[in-house]
Amino acid sequence: MLYLVGTPIGNLSDMSPRAIEVLSEADVIACEDTRVTGILLKEKGIEAKKLFCYQEHNKAAKGPVLIDMMKQGMTVAQVSDAGMPAISDPGEDLVRLAVEAGIEVSVIPGPVAAVSALAISGLSTRYYHFEGFLPQENKKRRDRLEALKGYDETIVLYEAPHRIQKLTEELEEAGFGDRKASFCRELTKKYEEVIRLTVSEAKKYFEENAPRGEFVVCLEPLGSAGTKTEPGAACDADTLIKLLLEKGMPTKDIAQVVSKATGLGKKEMYARTLELS
Ligand code: SAM
Repeated sequence: MLYLVGTPIGNLSDMSPRAIEVLSEADVIACEDTRVTGILLKEKGIEAKKLFCYQEHNKAAKGPVLIDMMKQGMTVAQVSDAGMPAISDPGEDLVRLAVEAGIEVSVIPGPVAAVSALAISGLSTRYYHFEGFLPQENKKRRDRLEALKGYDETIVLYEAPHRIQKLTEELEEAGFGDRKASFCRELTKKYEEVIRLTVSEAKKYFEENAPRGEFVVCLEPLGSAGTKTEPGAACDADTLIKLLLEKGMPTKDIAQVVSKATGLGKKEMYARTLELS
């Protein structure tokens, strides 16, 4: 049996009683860093039967070892350094291997930085896109930002503290300057803070106030009020939608064409087409 166990993203009081129970009873606790997990276990009074290092760099070799243990009837609980395993952290591959081997997989949910940030971002939570970390390599990063520019969902990014300043520059360069952004910092910790500015304002802000601690960045979706909606654009969109409806174009195609032509969100245009049809 494999348990994916969520652990706190800063505030140790966020550890669930069920997480404590499962970690106390597991035959093996697979963790990224035995020192980091050791601190959590000690704090919670958990005596691990066995700690096993399972991390990004050894997962290809160590995954099958854990699978063998589970095949022999052992219970493995996997944790990451913080938050939910498998979310921008090791776990995805182990779950896949377990599923392939017919091993039962269960989750003990805990805090996720992305969802916690989104919830208090003040931006739309109806539709969102979880990007996690952008690629490290410059060209791939630029390409990814170019693609993200067209998304009409709130975008949720992870970034290392020392790269937040650079990220605001890259976002501005990629054309996100006017978008509202929520920089959610040190969630659940003493200095928790949400900095709500446009991307360009944030760039200036971080030039004067060096970013400290861990951040999740949430970006306003394309087509949100006050950003990409040019004066008259909604009216033009309506005219275009009506014209294409008259031509008998399918709703989905209309939404795509009008979204491209006006820069307004595809989902928004889809809903508007339904309203007008
Ligand atoms: N698995 C984790 C989760 O469930 O959220 C994410 C791990 S990922 C390696 C680490 C990134 O998550 C950080 O670089 C930061 O972007 C974000 N993060 C983690 N803890 C955070 C916190 N307390 N406040 C803000 N961001 C946090």
